[in-house]
Amino acid sequence: MIGWRISLRKIAVGLILLASVFAQRGAEGQKGKAAGAKVSGAAVYALTEQMLAVAPKRFNGSPGHAKAEQFIREHFAPEAAKGNLEQDSFTASTPAGLQSMNNYIVRFPGKKDGVVVLATHYETNWPLRDINFVGANDGAATTSLLIGIGQYLRAHPPEGYSVWLVFFDGEEAVKEWSDSDSLYGSRHLAAKWSQSGVIGKIKAYLLADMCGDKDLNIDHDANSTPWLLEMLTVAAKDTGHAGSIFKNDTEVMDDHLPFKKRGVPVLDIIDLDYGPPTREHPEGGYHHTELDTIDKVGAKSLQISADLFLEMIRLVDLR
Ligand SMILES: [Zn+2]
Repeated sequence: MIGWRISLRKIAVGLILLASVFAQRGAEGQKGKAAGAKVSGAAVYALTEQMLAVAPKRFNGSPGHAKAEQFIREHFAPEAAKGNLEQDSFTASTPAGLQSMNNYIVRFPGKKDGVVVLATHYETNWPLRDINFVGANDGAATTSLLIGIGQYLRAHPPEGYSVWLVFFDGEEAVKEWSDSDSLYGSRHLAAKWSQSGVIGKIKAYLLADMCGDKDLNIDHDANSTPWLLEMLTVAAKDTGHAGSIFKNDTEVMDDHLPFKKRGVPVLDIIDLDYGPPTREHPEGGYHHTELDTIDKVGAKSLQISADLFLEMIRLVDLR
């Protein structure tokens, strides 16, 4: 993923948000407690630890990459048994030559015609293969988040639209970010689903990226669809997390773009502000460095992200 912080939001907007936070605080606190968490942030954190233990470095062709794929497949054995786990294999032409890549799609059938897609990427960067980059927040936490949400959906099958989880390979640039060197998995799947007509069934495409950051605040991404950004405001209020979104405006190049280009409503749930800014990483010093480790990820943040995703599914169903 690559992106730019545009600016802090206007003070007026901030004050309105602050006022609404105070106005809602009491009610939200009660609602949050009464509703109870559907997915445990602590359990997702534990899954992230497990994934990092078996697949710390997940660059293409590495043993960790294969282990990460195995980790995903094993957690969806019940869905595989029903024919609802698909491995989408393809060959990508990259600046480092041809690379074999695999996306994974897990389907939880609903009762209404249409699909809500929840997506993430699971691999780590090829250019960072020689440093100790494990992508705890950038890949591992969000893969674990979707696995956790999948476990909830297994026990509570969707009553509305079907929910499909997508685990992308090849999100990161192999050499340097460009239209042709990035988003390999999502570009491949968007093209494939465009040909098959599946793309027209997608009611909303919700992307999880770097949203396990201990110091979580979900960005207002200019590349996301306006009505989904508005819906996230509602979801954040509903779940008592209004203070955890939209501190920063960003414009992010990420796995939602190939779907956006084809007219799918998209939302990137991402917090680009990851660690103190450095000259090399002005967006956040932990991003794409050896510092992106499990101690920078928080169970509470994963709880917030899980709550937001599940509430978004509910709200899209009601729309
Ligand atoms: Zn990344």
